Amino acid sequence: MPLQIVTIPCCTDNYAFLLHDAASGETALVDAPEVAPIINALDDLGWSLSQILITHHHHDHIEGVQELRTKYGAKVLGAKADAHRLPPLDIALSEGDMIEVGKSIGRVLDVSGHCDDHLAFYFADSQAVFTADSLMALGCGRLFEGTPLQMWGSLSKIAALPPETIVYSGHEYTIANAIFAYSLEPNNPALRTRIQQTVDARANDIPTVPSTLSDELETNPFLRPASAEIRKNLKMNANTDAEVFAEIRRLKDGFSQTELPDFTK
Ligand code: ZN
Ligand code: FE
Repeated sequence: MPLQIVTIPCCTDNYAFLLHDAASGETALVDAPEVAPIINALDDLGWSLSQILITHHHHDHIEGVQELRTKYGAKVLGAKADAHRLPPLDIALSEGDMIEVGKSIGRVLDVSGHCDDHLAFYFADSQAVFTADSLMALGCGRLFEGTPLQMWGSLSKIAALPPETIVYSGHEYTIANAIFAYSLEPNNPALRTRIQQTVDARANDIPTVPSTLSDELETNPFLRPASAEIRKNLKMNANTDAEVFAEIRRLKDGFSQTELPDFTK
């Protein structure tokens, strides 16, 4: 049976997720940006916390781990190679390890690039991948520690999952990402449609996370270095996908436009 997944907005723009296995009653949390909204959600649902899965060491993803572990007696799982920067781990994880939430089995992916030892969790039976600050809705995480080549490898792993996979990423950055995406590929009809959906959702305070991998493949510029339009705009027709990706990431770092142009024309 697939996991029941609940999105919890935290802090200004973070998301945490509850993964509930109804048969066993087990519930896992992916990331703990802030304690109060997570406790409130668990109270409302009548669930306790059995595991806390950490994607990476940044403060806005681990802030609430210790308090939640103490309150619920939850086991904490995170990257073995990054244990020195994480709260104490009950289970230390590496790429390819399997994790269990009740009867649901998740696979650990190393998706470093935003930082070293950034993990994603893929639950095939639930068609769900938890990507935090690697692949994001219409974007990808900034490269604080990794190289563009490393991030391109990480995104390529996620891109190879079944396209119907639902992508649960870590932040509500989608409007800003959309403005950047539009600057690179204004003639992509799927992107225009998605931007309109994003604008409508945010006007009604609806999260744009999760998204589907198929939408990301069609519209997220960081998964589209092969796009003829992007290559033409960047004058990079003869480059490798990894080189085009690196240039897209570099341009995003310096991108300052905050107003969405009229994309309906
Ligand atoms: Zn981060
Ligand atoms: Fe983050």
